[in-house]
Amino acid sequence: NKQVIFRDYVTGFPQESDMCFTTGTVKLKVPEGSNGVLVKNLYLSCDPYMRILMGKHEVSSSFSSYTPGSPLTGYGVAKVLDSGNPDFKEGDLVWGITGWEEYSLITTPQALFKIQHTDVPLSYYTGILGMPGVTAYAGFYEVSSPKKGDRVFISAASGAVGQLVGQFAKLMGCYVVGSAGSKEKIDLLKNKLGFDEAFNYKEEHNLDAALKRCFPEGIDIYFENVGGKMLDAVLLNMRVHGRIAVCGMISQYNLDQPEGVCNLMSIVYKRVRLEGFAAPDYYPQYPKFLDIVLPYIREGKITYIEDIVEGLEKGPGAIIGLFKGRNVGKQVIVVAHE
Ligand code: NDP
Repeated sequence: NKQVIFRDYVTGFPQESDMCFTTGTVKLKVPEGSNGVLVKNLYLSCDPYMRILMGKHEVSSSFSSYTPGSPLTGYGVAKVLDSGNPDFKEGDLVWGITGWEEYSLITTPQALFKIQHTDVPLSYYTGILGMPGVTAYAGFYEVSSPKKGDRVFISAASGAVGQLVGQFAKLMGCYVVGSAGSKEKIDLLKNKLGFDEAFNYKEEHNLDAALKRCFPEGIDIYFENVGGKMLDAVLLNMRVHGRIAVCGMISQYNLDQPEGVCNLMSIVYKRVRLEGFAAPDYYPQYPKFLDIVLPYIREGKITYIEDIVEGLEKGPGAIIGLFKGRNVGKQVIVVAHE
């Protein structure tokens, strides 16, 4: 059983050397009396929150750190090989939290979702039909109170979550602008994903001016993925009664001290609703989410861009690539084909 092991707590920018490989043996059977499931991992998802788990946290914080010397864990798609749980049987396909290894014994199978629809690519259950999809759905439809004609801004707009939020907003009849970190990503946003406008934040020395250019009348909804200087510039450009769905702040994850936000009082002046949310809170709505998103995929109304690498050994490089903007679309690792 090949595994990606987390070596030790990380400070600053993560390195590939923070992870290493081991190969051990695994019994392809659930232990007698266990109600767990034994799975063969097919796809693993690279998600920015994994960096947060690489840091050392107080036991009381909302994150429990990875355990040094143990395999990384994260979202994935897997096939059940053996089950001690009445809800799962051999051959079932599932998505949920698994290990960064070829085979995992999952002792909390209640956190797994059974995959019912296989007419779409299975890797989608790490992205559009998995946790990032629920994030985009919850953050846009549930948290942002969107309506037709709203002016919507999305940062990290070409990524796993952002590309979907933008397309949901376009389908609702909003004016949609995204920011991303390369010319390739800007072209994708404008020419493939249907954004009205997009800009490369790395080439704008004045983010406030870039936002004023794209939103002369201000922003109604900001879908926050990056934090830091971008959030500060956005606050100045919000409209009265604007909403900010705080999904994540990737620009801050590798810093020892978060960067200061200067313009927070704009929340008061403009009566802005700034609301954080977490995808798992919305998992009970997963069937409703599928009813909305599966038809969009089948009818070709939504495009989903994936960045797929082959082989567990590419995992450490792929997770670090998220923080360098190397991924174009949802970063997925193929561990095995079915
Ligand atoms: P992406 O697929 O968008 O990958 C991360 C991207 O972030 C990179 O490609 C890069 O794109 C951008 N980025 C990296 N470093 C910086 C930086 N310093 N400043 C600005 N942009 C940066 O990731 P996801 O779509 O999976 O996640 C997006 C956000 O959503 C993250 O903040 C994540 O933590 C959050 N999230 C929150 C969830 C929740 O439940 N609240 C659930 C899932 C995700 P670029 O080239 O454009 O810089």
